[in-house]
Amino acid sequence: MTDSREPRSVKCSFCGRDGSEVTSMVAGPDVYICDICIKTSVDILKNNISNYPKKETSHSSLTPDLIKKSLDEYVVDQHLAKKILAVAVYNHYKRVNASNSLFEMDDVEIEKSNILLMGPTGVGKTLLAQTLARILDVPFAIADATTLTEAGYVGDDVETVLVRLLQAADYNLDKAQRGIVYIDEIDKIARKSESASITRDVSGEGVQQALLKILEGTVAGVPPRGGRKHPEQSLINVNTKNILFICGGAFDGIDNIIASRINRNPIGFDTHVQNATEIERDNLMHNALPEDLVKYGLIPELVGRLPIIAPLASLNEKAMKNILTEPKNALVKQYKKLFSLEGAELEFDQAALDEIVKKAIERKTGARALRSIVEGILLDIMYEIPTKENIDKCLVTKDVVSNKEKPIYIESDRKTA
Ligand code: ADP
Repeated sequence: MTDSREPRSVKCSFCGRDGSEVTSMVAGPDVYICDICIKTSVDILKNNISNYPKKETSHSSLTPDLIKKSLDEYVVDQHLAKKILAVAVYNHYKRVNASNSLFEMDDVEIEKSNILLMGPTGVGKTLLAQTLARILDVPFAIADATTLTEAGYVGDDVETVLVRLLQAADYNLDKAQRGIVYIDEIDKIARKSESASITRDVSGEGVQQALLKILEGTVAGVPPRGGRKHPEQSLINVNTKNILFICGGAFDGIDNIIASRINRNPIGFDTHVQNATEIERDNLMHNALPEDLVKYGLIPELVGRLPIIAPLASLNEKAMKNILTEPKNALVKQYKKLFSLEGAELEFDQAALDEIVKKAIERKTGARALRSIVEGILLDIMYEIPTKENIDKCLVTKDVVSNKEKPIYIESDRKTA
């Protein structure tokens, strides 16, 4: 690029300085730029650097507030977790964009902050992580910590998580390296005792060690098609430095650890009021500290790599009912659409919805139970409707839910039961 001719014989195309007035001149096809103009350009770009991440990608223009609002469209309640996630994700991508910018900002290196979602089963942990990835338009992969093993053991290597991410990114390595990985059931690989000596749970701890590596940032060689690594197979090197890891777990029993640390009475067994225990457990979860996680059985190094803890609360009846009807792709909306494709309107009366919620709460699997309950109720109806003629509307009442009665079918011009 540097002009091979005598610098004195050319002029800078930007400032017009003669080659004799400058130290060096860089040449392009029919243009020249002197070292003074290069320095000025660098200064201009450096001044703009604070805006740089905002301009670089579309998702970086999302503020925490916008991220939270988008999450609200899909996930009911869990406002604290959403807020924590929104800020963490915003900062994460700011950091990623800054480290990818052309210029070193200064000597301060912002460390990656992976996130731990802590809350009972079926309250929206996976949904939150999944929705985040969708909002940010980044590849997303889910892994179950209990199926992961250390390299060399039967089961999935920890690296298979990265294969899935690569697949989700259509094998675009660059995209995959900015994706989100959700690791579910992280609490299930806790070692059984804090004292690592005799009661050490080797498999759990081994997986934790393996996870630690990819969480903190490493270059992992992954077999492109997944499965075990073979010596003759060429590997794709995935750098996990900018991949955001969100781990989730129910951490059953951690409330007792937290309670004894803060000197509060642990939850009694003798309570008749189910909600009281749930609320108490949720309150305790809000006070979780890294040391509680270590006591629970996560290795301190892994806990150190999950500095952001977002607690999710159990869902009460109102939240469950909202989940049925409010989110953008709420179950009831989905089935309504399905019925409308059949030319029929589907409606649930309020008592029916309350009954569905009641049944779901009895199952103690959070909102997860809602789908199978609704599916069970609608099975016969969906079986019948395509062969029934002139059905305008199908009304699901409480009796349909609790006594398996037939719904009220409203035909084009008259009602039949
Ligand atoms: P977990 O907390 O065990 O990861 P999931 O996120 O997988 O639970 O939730 C299971 C299902 O329940 C989801 O697919 C979603 O339909 C529903 N669900 C759970 N919590 C919520 C919520 N807060 N808002 C909306 N839907 C929810």
